[in-house]
Amino acid sequence: MASGRVLGGYGLTEPGAGSDAAALSTTYIDDGDHWVLNGSKVFISNASISNWMIVFATKDKALRHDGISCFVLDTDTPGCKPKKMHGKLGQRASDTAEIVFEDCRIPKKALVGAEGEGFKIAMRTFDRTRPQIVAVSIGVTQRALDECRAYALDRNAFGQSIASFQAIQFMLADMAIDLEAMRLLTYRAAWEIDRKGGASIYSSYAKAFGADRAMKHAENAVQIFGGYGYMKEYPVEKLMRDAKLVQIYEGTSQIQRMVIARHLFKQ
Ligand SMILES: Cc1cc2nc3c(=O)[nH]c(=O)nc-3n(C[C@H](O)[C@H](O)[C@H](O)COP(=O)(O)OP(=O)(O)OC[C@H]3O[C@@H](n4cnc5c(N)ncnc54)[C@H](O)[C@@H]3O)c2cc1C
Repeated sequence: MASGRVLGGYGLTEPGAGSDAAALSTTYIDDGDHWVLNGSKVFISNASISNWMIVFATKDKALRHDGISCFVLDTDTPGCKPKKMHGKLGQRASDTAEIVFEDCRIPKKALVGAEGEGFKIAMRTFDRTRPQIVAVSIGVTQRALDECRAYALDRNAFGQSIASFQAIQFMLADMAIDLEAMRLLTYRAAWEIDRKGGASIYSSYAKAFGADRAMKHAENAVQIFGGYGYMKEYPVEKLMRDAKLVQIYEGTSQIQRMVIARHLFKQ
């Protein structure tokens, strides 16, 4: 995987269950030496090009969290049918696909962890992956700052460089402040993962802050570029389209705030 020759994916979201992952309805049944999966997933990154997938399924939807188990499967297994999705706003270099499972038989050893532990595994995975997603926000914001600084120095209005206007300077200053804060929150979450501390809350702090600030700064980058910012010929409209997704996947910005609020009221 590290060499890039083998790709994997993480299949949790379904057409009827995104933020409320416990409502998923892809089912599995125990059939002798095999598990049999039926149902569908949507918006799964890498699904149409990956060699294997992590898939979450329930033995009984009414059990919600307690009914969910986690499986690892070869995407060439008969009955596993990924189909590329087209027409994304941003992050178009990344594959996104739906998957249909039709009597997809996978061996008993495909179960990850114990039966019924799937929901916990899914949430623990997010604790570790959310900081990586914030790295996307940091990249977007750093690029926005670099591009805007150069453009502001170069572009003239009212007989002077737009970098001399305080309104422009303050937008750049806010980018620089938030970049530092995003990096520190991300390192803090990564440190909590390394020391096996309470990573969940720090991952949510980093994800909520990083995603929302990156979106704001990407939007400001378009503003600083003026009309050129709106055109594909210039780099900043792409930053705005790419930043938007960080507020949506791996738990939306609203879901991060739910995690944080739940933590506050538990104390
Ligand atoms: C390009 C892309 C790649 C993705 N990659 C993957 C992947 O690899 N694997 C995977 O499993 N999923 C993936 N996803 C799915 C993504 O994680 C979900 O889209 C996301 O979790 C939101 O779920 P939803 O789309 O069903 O929105 P919904 O859950 O329907 O939410 C709709 C809106 O309601 C809000 N909302 C929902 N519940 C609450 C609440 N209780 N309080 C306040 N607001 C709420 C949400 O924040 C959102 O604004 C990907 C999505 C995209 C677009």
